[in-house]
Amino acid sequence: MMEHKSSSNFLRNIILEDFKAGKADHVVTRFPPEPNGYLHIGHAKSIILNFELADEFKGKTHLRFDDTNPTKEDTEYVESIKEDVQWLGYQWDELFFASNYFEEMYNRAILLIKKGKAYVCDLTAEEIRKTRGSLTEPGQPSPWRERSVEENLELFEEMRRGAFKDGEKVLRAKIDMASPNINLRDPVLYRIAHASHHNTGDKWCIYPMYDFAHPLEDAIEGVTHSICTLEFEDHRPLYDWIVRECEMENVPHQYEFARLNLTNTVMSKRKLKQLVEEKIVDGWNDPRMPTISGLRRRGYTPEAMRNFAREIGVAKADSVVDTKMLEHFIREDLKLKAPRTMAVLKPLKVVITNYPEDQAEMLEAENNPENPEMGVRMIPFSREIYIEQDDFAENPPPKYHRLYLGNEVRLKNAYFIKCNEIVKDESGRVIELHCTYDPETKSGTGFTGRKVKGTIHWVDARHAVPAEFRLYEPLILENETDDGTSFLEHINPHSLEIADGFVEPTMKTSKSQDKFQFFRHGYFNVDPLYSSADHLVFNRIVSLKSSFELPK
Ligand code: ATP
Ligand code: MG
Repeated sequence: MMEHKSSSNFLRNIILEDFKAGKADHVVTRFPPEPNGYLHIGHAKSIILNFELADEFKGKTHLRFDDTNPTKEDTEYVESIKEDVQWLGYQWDELFFASNYFEEMYNRAILLIKKGKAYVCDLTAEEIRKTRGSLTEPGQPSPWRERSVEENLELFEEMRRGAFKDGEKVLRAKIDMASPNINLRDPVLYRIAHASHHNTGDKWCIYPMYDFAHPLEDAIEGVTHSICTLEFEDHRPLYDWIVRECEMENVPHQYEFARLNLTNTVMSKRKLKQLVEEKIVDGWNDPRMPTISGLRRRGYTPEAMRNFAREIGVAKADSVVDTKMLEHFIREDLKLKAPRTMAVLKPLKVVITNYPEDQAEMLEAENNPENPEMGVRMIPFSREIYIEQDDFAENPPPKYHRLYLGNEVRLKNAYFIKCNEIVKDESGRVIELHCTYDPETKSGTGFTGRKVKGTIHWVDARHAVPAEFRLYEPLILENETDDGTSFLEHINPHSLEIADGFVEPTMKTSKSQDKFQFFRHGYFNVDPLYSSADHLVFNRIVSLKSSFELPK
């Protein structure tokens, strides 16, 4: 099937101009996650952008773990990130860990000190913040700003040796305390952290800050176009300063694009981690999570995610995208691919009283009426079947065309049945219906004798396979707000509903991650963790209907 065409994007134009102006003759991009959590759909947008831009210009893309913060990082996250990138359909040309550059970064810091461009500062983090000034006021120079090169070299070496406690000293760039750009007011380059690192163990107790590390990582790897989200726009002058003053051979350039936000979704690893740790969800891959692993388990496909990313394109201004748009793309992707079968989520037994007890027959059903290539299957029909509780009404509201006493409906792929009797238990609950069928009305025989208004689905009771259905609603009831309330106050208590029902016998052999359209219920995915041959579990990916339409 054709994938959605790329929408135009300003980054592509920048690269084209760089080529024209002779500023670049090749493209190297990178996806640089910090391994401090599982990736979410926002990261997917960045992955797709970086890999596809490079691909378009026959360039390369690196996967780089930006692992410069020892306390939050873990190899579990490294592994999950690799899996997610590959599942999305991309293979990195090179794999790097920023922590492998610690020695080189340290040497570049020494170079800055020698050039009089960096100094060791004894102010606390709080004091540094207070003396940084504001948009209207310049900052105040640190009392340690004029330390000699010799003293700075000595102190920085002692920092590395572990002579000081966390927070006692930092290394700062010496730029301009009066700069209108606050990021240039002597930013911190190194801090002390006595903590074990997932890759370098206890080798280091000083760690580079993002603003120092990131441009160096890009330059070391020969990245040409370093794409990040908009909040780093004001950091770009510092990025360029670091590359220049550290005398890096390769000169990468930073470009910013709008991050992806979705309605009813929190999109930050920190917050997602909170949902996991407080057991509000049952893991990073809970099907309600906007993580790539959660969406995969829910039943999203890489194609749907790539087409979604292409459609939203790359913007220069932040906005919130409607989650319905993501749902639109999974429906589009599965429409012709997923077999259509019948499942009864909340069963009600129907006895067809004029169908002989010892009889059964096989009826033909199309696997996907919109895609005849998917062929047909045979489904059993006999005296007892299950229908959906909701497809029967004791007191039918106006315009109700499904089953009620005296009414006739079509059973999908089978016969017309008419309801003659309602059986109740002592509490008055309807537990069974007695109906009669009309053999003349068999589906596919061209019967035109009379018409009925309702078509309902069913499964044969004797051959039905029990199954669990997990139905989802948004996990968060509000969009991310700035009203001071925590997202934890907006958790939807009804985000998961579990129903026990039946599927057709052909479903018995379905496997982890198989996807189906259940007639009238929507698209479902076989859950990779909870489903087994003895106990099928289906996650509803999306229902069938949506009010959403792509803008023309
Ligand atoms: P989070 O706050 O969720 O941890 P992050 O930006 O800190 O996100 P990183 O691991 O540093 O996470 O991100 C790796 C890359 O993914 C960066 O280039 C970042 O710009 C990009 N990215 C992160 N979130 C989004 C988003 N919502 N939309 C687009 N790109 C994103
Ligand atoms: Mg981060």
